[in-house]
Amino acid sequence: MLKKVFGPSDCAKCRLCCNFQRESVWETPFLTDEQAARFEADGVEIVRRSRGGASFALRFVDGSDEPANCPFLNPARGCSLPEDRKPFECKVWPLRTMEKDGRLVIGRYRNCPALAGEKGAALDRLATKELLPTLLAFVAENPASIREFSPLYEICWEGDLPASANDDARSNG
Ligand code: SF4
Ligand code: SF4
Repeated sequence: MLKKVFGPSDCAKCRLCCNFQRESVWETPFLTDEQAARFEADGVEIVRRSRGGASFALRFVDGSDEPANCPFLNPARGCSLPEDRKPFECKVWPLRTMEKDGRLVIGRYRNCPALAGEKGAALDRLATKELLPTLLAFVAENPASIREFSPLYEICWEGDLPASANDDARSNG
């Protein structure tokens, strides 16, 4: 979805979004229950999120601070999932939908090396014009995918939370 701004070769060199520190487990991609069931049927280990939905289980080495790869990261070629099986959040990364002070915000990950200079602004324009209906439709259907705001993200859009989101505090669990 973001190919107008940057390409898979940028991510193949970086892979930051597919490789997680223990403290960034909350960033692992949201899976709908239906997607999670399909992956589980294929033998992929899944963890359920406390607010609904699921994500891939990560394998950290005991006693080590080494980050863990997403199970679908091919270290040589990048993501090994076909486009139609990729989690939605991976398709729109490094954009993320979050809740801040009772509002829905769309943020762009600040440290993406592919978005230096004008490219960051170009992605903001893409997010707030072309992609906005798709992003809003996804969170309306999957309010559990909305995370707590993190300052790692530059806010590029702000609006109302979807009516489907309840009043509970947002959780990154
Ligand atoms: S941080 Fe940017 S370049 Fe790196 S993997 Fe994520 S989206 Fe791609
Ligand atoms: S599913 Fe693919 S794009 Fe998403 S985190 Fe895993 S390897 Fe990266």
